[in-house]
Amino acid sequence: MKECDVAIIGAGPAGLTAALYCGRAKLQAVCVEKSVNGGQVASTEEVENYPGFMAISGPSLAEKMAKQAEKFGVGQQRATVQGITPDGRYWLVRTTSEGIKAKAVIIATGAEPRLLGCPGESDLRGRGVSYCAVCDGAFYEDADNVVVVGGGDSAVEEAVFLTKFARCVTLIHRRDSLRAAKILQDRLFGNQRVKVVWNSVIGSINGRDMVESVTVRNIRTGSVDTLPCEGVFVYVGMTPQTGFAGGLVAMDDNGYIITDETMATNMPGIFAAGDNRVKGLRQIVTAAADGAVAAFFAARYIEEHFG
Ligand SMILES: Cc1cc2nc3c(=O)[nH]c(=O)nc-3n(C[C@H](O)[C@H](O)[C@H](O)COP(=O)(O)OP(=O)(O)OC[C@H]3O[C@@H](n4cnc5c(N)ncnc54)[C@H](O)[C@@H]3O)c2cc1C
Repeated sequence: MKECDVAIIGAGPAGLTAALYCGRAKLQAVCVEKSVNGGQVASTEEVENYPGFMAISGPSLAEKMAKQAEKFGVGQQRATVQGITPDGRYWLVRTTSEGIKAKAVIIATGAEPRLLGCPGESDLRGRGVSYCAVCDGAFYEDADNVVVVGGGDSAVEEAVFLTKFARCVTLIHRRDSLRAAKILQDRLFGNQRVKVVWNSVIGSINGRDMVESVTVRNIRTGSVDTLPCEGVFVYVGMTPQTGFAGGLVAMDDNGYIITDETMATNMPGIFAAGDNRVKGLRQIVTAAADGAVAAFFAARYIEEHFG
């Protein structure tokens, strides 16, 4: 069992910023990450709204954040956190490798893409169904048609990105207007390669070995069409990665952790930061800000409770 001051769960922007602040506060911190550093940022094509960078690729930003945290001596552990249990004044973090005994815990586990839940989606996942245009877009060089499902920032941003590869990108959205930022909508509507299908949902994703088409249902008229396509990119929202903390800290009905403005949860010594908590804007800059606040108040908590 490893012992430290702060166990940080997740190495996305929230976790890596918390790590940086813990390191600079001379706290012994360990950051546990189940996948690659950077979280969702690691699979984002280009970021142009993180202050200080006019434009930077997601993986480069993730690498810079990780290096900065490392510079201040924060330990890294590659493992999945499975649970947190109390041990007197301490918290025990159970992982798929070594456990951690910590005075405070910062949960920065972010969120993962929500599924459509339609027939064909799971069978054809990785065979034309994707949740990451940056990861898989290049497979669709010269494709006749690629479908993107959703109407928020990610759907619109990634639809435009996919026009670098596919001849046509069809955005399918269940409403008659988009939620995405105006600047992103302007880019989408100004792109000759994009078509938008309004008021429609995907009934099924079809194909024998690879995606061949989607069945599209207009929710206003009830009409059903089959749209040939080589790929389907799904951007219909996110699910917070908080299952392992269920029953421990207070959450809303969707599993987002409830915190106060110091990022404290209802459990003393447990903080949450980033996309996994109840908040109004889920972005890199707000995740990083949460991480800084959580680390600052975790340090204060340790000072008050452990001297
Ligand atoms: C396609 C796309 C494009 C985007 N573009 C932008 C943009 O241009 N600008 C912008 O500001 N925002 C953008 N965002 C949103 C931004 O990426 C997120 O708001 C931000 O990454 C949230 O950071 P986070 O640290 O809270 O969570 P995440 O980035 O989700 O990181 C959480 C980390 O925790 C790890 N983890 C989860 N559960 C466990 C566990 N049990 N044990 C160990 N590790 C665990 C995950 O593997 C992950 O690495 C985009 C998102 C997507 C999907």
